[in-house]
Amino acid sequence: MSEERFAREFDAIAGLAAARRRVLVLGHVDPDGDCVGSMLALAHYLVGLGSEVVCFAPGDMADLYRELPLARLFASEERLASFEPDLVFALDSPTAARTANLIRRGDGVPVVNIDHHPTNERYGDINVVDESASAAAIIVYRLLARVAPGALTPETAGCLYVGVLMDTGGFRFRNTNAEALAAAARFVELGARPHELAHDFLYVKKLSSLKLLSLSLASLEVRGGGRIGVMHVSRRMLEEAGGAMSDTEGFVDYAASIDDVELAALFREVAPGEVRVSLRSRNDFNVAALAEAHGGGGHRNAAGLTVRAGLDEAKRLILRSFEEMLAGRPGGGGGA
Ligand code: AMP
Ligand code: MN
Ligand code: MN
Repeated sequence: MSEERFAREFDAIAGLAAARRRVLVLGHVDPDGDCVGSMLALAHYLVGLGSEVVCFAPGDMADLYRELPLARLFASEERLASFEPDLVFALDSPTAARTANLIRRGDGVPVVNIDHHPTNERYGDINVVDESASAAAIIVYRLLARVAPGALTPETAGCLYVGVLMDTGGFRFRNTNAEALAAAARFVELGARPHELAHDFLYVKKLSSLKLLSLSLASLEVRGGGRIGVMHVSRRMLEEAGGAMSDTEGFVDYAASIDDVELAALFREVAPGEVRVSLRSRNDFNVAALAEAHGGGGHRNAAGLTVRAGLDEAKRLILRSFEEMLAGRPGGGGGA
């Protein structure tokens, strides 16, 4: 079993955690539910050991994650700047660059890398990287179940549940496996409230986010004989809807959900001349490889990258690659 597979690493992490007092828990830029949920559950365990814990992820965090129990552990940039950790964790981050290189190496501070991306670069002193885990939260759960079951409180179970819920798209994506469902059931036994978490994190939307979605959907284009779907969010749309870029989590799924679409992309103009691209695919089309070829990464069916260009140029670049991926592979194939 995979729990056995990382037993040595988990015990080494517990040893380090017991011996250190100032712990930095890092997440990736623009953290999602898995990133935030796994960070906070881990942080709760570390606080329980008597450590001073600072959680930080660069970029924008959607407001709703600030409602999670333990979210007070998220620190400001000022606090981060003056914090001298003696142990660093990075969660859900395939490269050091995804944490804005906040991982400080070479000064004797051990780095623990906990992740489930196949593109992970093993930048830690301890690396627990398991691409069979549907979320980083699953790995944090295995760690706590082994070394600190008492840390699995209703609050940490809720945070971990949110991690799995969001990374599996509400238990719908290809990464939804028996372990994810069994862990979710365990989180509920431990006190997580599935209906409340589904309501808060999947169902409820801000009005500004829906306005932004309607503007973005108007940009939806289908190409490649119906097999490619692309849409975008421009700075102008943000201004018009009064929303924030962090309100766009999940927009790409609208392009990806069209019946015949096998390759989908959402282009977000995060700054003038800088576009964040989210890629989604069905079947065995590998968008992680495409993302990686342009400095990004991710999973086979969900990946991302940043393009230093305007929206039109970024679209041209990705559409060209999508068309190459489709070439020679006739459509009409099965489901997701
Ligand atoms: P997103 O489209 O932002 O939801 O990202 C889809 C998946 O790709 C997630 O698992 C991300 O963690 C991963 N990902 C997105 N952008 C990058 C990047 N620049 N480098 C590595 N992985 C990424
Ligand atoms: Mn993530
Ligand atoms: Mn994840």
